[in-house]
Amino acid sequence: MKSLKELVRPNIWSLAAYSSARNEYSGHVANVFLDANENPYNRPFNRYPDPLQLEVKAKLAPIKRVRPEQIFLGNGSDEAIDLPYRCFCSPGIDNVVAIEPTYGMYKVCADINDVEYRPVLLDDNYQISAEKLLAATDENTKIIWVCSPNNPSGNNIDRDEIVKLVDSFDGIVIIDEAYSDFSSQKPMRDELDKHPNMIVLNTFSKAWGCAAIRLGMAFGNEDIIEIFNKVKYPYNINNLTQNQALEALKDPFEVDKWVRTLLLERSRMIDAFKQLPICEKIYHTDANFFLAKMTDAQKTYDYLVEKGIIVRNRTRIKLCTNCLRVTIGTKNENNELLSALRQY
Ligand SMILES: *Cc1c(COP(=O)(O)O)cnc(C)c1O
Repeated sequence: MKSLKELVRPNIWSLAAYSSARNEYSGHVANVFLDANENPYNRPFNRYPDPLQLEVKAKLAPIKRVRPEQIFLGNGSDEAIDLPYRCFCSPGIDNVVAIEPTYGMYKVCADINDVEYRPVLLDDNYQISAEKLLAATDENTKIIWVCSPNNPSGNNIDRDEIVKLVDSFDGIVIIDEAYSDFSSQKPMRDELDKHPNMIVLNTFSKAWGCAAIRLGMAFGNEDIIEIFNKVKYPYNINNLTQNQALEALKDPFEVDKWVRTLLLERSRMIDAFKQLPICEKIYHTDANFFLAKMTDAQKTYDYLVEKGIIVRNRTRIKLCTNCLRVTIGTKNENNELLSALRQY
């Protein structure tokens, strides 16, 4: 791996972070706060939130089997996807490599930051070859993006290939494990200490059932997290979100129950889809959705919209011709979809 100093943009490396009022007295106990020009009335909303979300991180760390210093919290994974571009990639000079097809935000953020995006096509089983990804890199490649389980295909990416990639690339490898709660493959998050150039993304939006609060996580070595903390908006996670996250973290077993229910529903849905004359194939999935190859995805999609049922039409995505991506809902929602398709 290159040194962090070589990987980080020079302006970010030399950046003096904004020092907020609440940062500067640390180490002392205080009970009169006249430092931040807040209004003393309208509690509890009058006070700025903890800029480093230490209470949330303390509760999250043991659940995720990482140290609090290895955690960055963002306004959704969206912020954790955008920040690496702003920290590592000089606009107009640097580039990133990613698998294709995959989650759309990696490319959107590359385009916004004026960073060249180099997609490398997966094989017919939606798998990567580490060699092919490495062959697409050059001396200006700062980041390689891998999503596992991948979206929209749903499958885990081969773990040995991911390890090979992380071990051989001299820049940053980001593994988006947004759906890893639904998978039995050992998450790369557990290998953080072995790979100082790896960042792993998780989210509260999927298995944790908290998409509305906008809370995403990046796990990485302490030096990288420190750089993220320097570049992020000082108060990027508001108090309502921090408090709701603490609520959710009190009951991780509830998440396990949801996951078990959704996995049972998933196999029921897949079996039922296989019986539909308009369904040609279901791809293997390790997530809370599946990709279905239909005889005519656009027609089926339009028909379902007419009935008020929305699935994701992925037919215009590479390697996904005539594919619909179907999220697993409640038993009732799933039954509505099935009965509509049976009447098709
Ligand atoms: C849904 C999803 C996320 C979550 O994004 P948030 O901004 O945290 O809601 C992240 N990565 C992938 C691949 C996803 O599909």
